Amino acid sequence: MKVLQQFPIKSVLVTGCNRGIGLELIKYFAEQNKEKNDQPVKVISSSIGLSSELNDLLSEHIFHVELNVTDTKSVSAAVQKVSDIVGNDGLNLLINNAAIMHDDKGVLDCSDQAMKETFDVNVTGPLSVRNFQIKSIHYHFSMKVLQKFLIKSVLVTGANRGIGLELVRYFVEQNKQHHEQPVKVISCSRRLSPELEDMLSEHVYHVGLEVTDNMSVQAAVKIVSDIVGADGLNLLINNAAIMQHGKGVLGCSDQEMKETLTVNVIGPHSVVNNFHPLLKLAAECNSDTPLSCARAAVFNISSELGSIQNTKNSFTTAYRVSKAALNMLTKCQASDFIKDGIICLSVHPGWVRTDLGGPRAPLSTKESVEDIMHMITHCTEEHNGMYVRKNLVSEPY
Ligand code: NDP
Repeated sequence: MKVLQQFPIKSVLVTGCNRGIGLELIKYFAEQNKEKNDQPVKVISSSIGLSSELNDLLSEHIFHVELNVTDTKSVSAAVQKVSDIVGNDGLNLLINNAAIMHDDKGVLDCSDQAMKETFDVNVTGPLSVRNFQIKSIHYHFSMKVLQKFLIKSVLVTGANRGIGLELVRYFVEQNKQHHEQPVKVISCSRRLSPELEDMLSEHVYHVGLEVTDNMSVQAAVKIVSDIVGADGLNLLINNAAIMQHGKGVLGCSDQEMKETLTVNVIGPHSVVNNFHPLLKLAAECNSDTPLSCARAAVFNISSELGSIQNTKNSFTTAYRVSKAALNMLTKCQASDFIKDGIICLSVHPGWVRTDLGGPRAPLSTKESVEDIMHMITHCTEEHNGMYVRKNLVSEPY
């Protein structure tokens, strides 16, 4: 979630940037801008005077504003300059970093003067900066504004075991840490496992879902619609799938092929089509949010076994065929839904120790889900329609 909060920040103001932590914060944002130069953050450093280190960091997107936080005239002038820099977007994040510490040795050693100076800089200063913003240019102070960019709801299919269950667990943990704005976690499965049941709570719902049964999908849409309400659904993770162990092409029966395609391709297709109105609703509600999972997205959990280019043998033919088809489905969904503000990705979760992946797989479900979450929090419009693995690295079709 941290990264997700970070990326929609358009501007940040840091006080006391000449040295120490303030200077380091500016360096951090400068580095972020280099990595994500398509969406640079306007970084406004402020201090009394300008150190040479800070001066070296100034650039097209890194500004400096003279600011003495104890001087209302100085604050007033700074607000005007910051206002010119950020324009109508306002300021997303203010980091009140400037502070002093006298090195007195205990209460008796602390002079009235030292106490007053310390309060002026460390308490009245931040207060003065904040008050002024509210009066003048609608600064958005505190993390509340950033939280509005977060995913409000997520739906996971095949959530009763394996990777799906771990995804639910991840969001449950996130909710514990960010309890002021919990994510609505909608776990879907055709049966409820004890592990999943244990996780159900005020913000963690279970909805029965057999992805191959259109009636079941439609019934699930109704229930989910009541859960998410007017906010719609931000993120749909099509995770449910099967893999049978037919040996090669000749060992793969028509029945196996049919069943595998039904669950792994028609299932996600039906689920996405039926949930499309809820995804579109979320995209509309968050129309000021960049295309991302915080707006509306579909994650189709694919597999590296669906890569035609990398296929060296025919082991699990039906499964390979189904995941290659899922990749194409993702492309088609991506091309159709981008106009609705929804992005779609095909994601290889790694080889994972589950019933499907088997005990020899190198990754635990926790490791895989951490990689998936990194993709969830980092994907943008540029990843729409892509077939990716860990770190959003493109997988050959
Ligand atoms: P598991 O076999 O552990 O879990 C599969 C999940 O899918 C179960 O919850 C299962 O529910 C559900 N499911 C299967 N059929 C249906 C259906 N018709 N309707 C609703 N739910 C259904 O698999 P993983 O957790 O390992 O796999 C999750 C995803 O990751 C899959 O898409 C898989 O292809 C992909 N993947 C996994 C890899 C791995 O190494 N594990 C590697 C690459 C991709 P039920 O308990 O009711 O059967």
